Amino acid sequence: MLDLQKPEENARLQDLRSFNILDTPAEEAYDDVVRLASFICDTPIALISLVDEDRQWFKARVGLGAMETPRGQAFCAHAITHPDVVMQVPDAQKDPRFATNPLVTGDPNIRFYAGAPLVTASGAALGTVCVIDSVPRELTERQSEALKALSRQVVQLLALRRANAELELLTRANSARQQQMENHQRRIEELNQELQEQTLTDALTALKNRRAFDALLTTEYARSQRSKSPLCLLMVDADQFKPYNDAFGHVAGDQALMLIALAIKSQARAYDHVARYGGEEFCVILPDTRLQDSLIVAERIREAIKGIVGLRRAMTASIGVAYSEGVTTAKRLVELADRAMYLAKQGGRDRVEVFQPPP
Ligand code: GH3
Ligand code: MG
Ligand code: MG
Repeated sequence: MLDLQKPEENARLQDLRSFNILDTPAEEAYDDVVRLASFICDTPIALISLVDEDRQWFKARVGLGAMETPRGQAFCAHAITHPDVVMQVPDAQKDPRFATNPLVTGDPNIRFYAGAPLVTASGAALGTVCVIDSVPRELTERQSEALKALSRQVVQLLALRRANAELELLTRANSARQQQMENHQRRIEELNQELQEQTLTDALTALKNRRAFDALLTTEYARSQRSKSPLCLLMVDADQFKPYNDAFGHVAGDQALMLIALAIKSQARAYDHVARYGGEEFCVILPDTRLQDSLIVAERIREAIKGIVGLRRAMTASIGVAYSEGVTTAKRLVELADRAMYLAKQGGRDRVEVFQPPP
């Protein structure tokens, strides 16, 4: 019987396809097998033939130019119908199955054929490791055994190939999943960052808010204590802001606050911290700054606020300055700046004052 039963043949073809081997480039491991087969069996031709639906395709070959031949002419198509045995055709001219085969009557003039089926774990024979000669002959028992062993080696190579491909697929799926997780992680970090910024930023002026100010002042105060460097704090309070609000409305008041924030920011140095302390009050932390220098910054801020253009009427601010020398807590520094600011109010507003605590 030449043809396998249809369902069996379908399963066999499916098995063959699962190895993804058809029409792949030559590989040394398979080439070595046919070189060995040719050497051991002492034949000019040796092939690894895979029997596809309509053709046999050679994964490796010595002594034959063709890459494939039609299945109808394939000796191997017969060999695979009996997976357990090495099929031998001692003289093809005398074998009614092959006497008229074009591969016998013409090039490469096959007389002798022996094929050891490539039997997979599922029991299907995908093709053979076969040897061919142009003179009639037979294999010795040892040669036949060797051919069988080589066919088992080829099946091992195929199984390894399929396992590798599956592993690669898994690895790729894994790294895609990992990438996805990293993306999620990054997004979470971004959202966290945004959230953090929102909780530390004043929505109206985009300055740091009271919460951020408290944290920054604690840090800067501790740092100044540690490094014995001077630290100053300015408390800036808009003058007569309530009348401005009352006269021009809350929206105009909001715009004024934004402009005041910008004016203060424009006079601060990169390492100063400008915050909205609350309402129409702002604070500026001046790290590494002596009292004398902080007074210069405060003066500049006062001038900048006075010079804001685009307001319904000119705005001024009273600024209190506190200096860290002899001050034992960050909270105390705020109290001193606040006291100084009130001194400025009492002194007639639009001015800078320092509160010197009694010794
Ligand atoms: P002084 O010169 O003594 O500081 O007088 P003042 O009017 O500036 O001070 P007061 O504390 O009496 O009024 C502050 C005003 O600031 C009252 C409040 O309505 C206004 N204010 C506080 N926060 C906001 C805000 O976010 N937007 C607006 N438009 N007004 C605000
Ligand atoms: Mg106030
Ligand atoms: Mg005020």
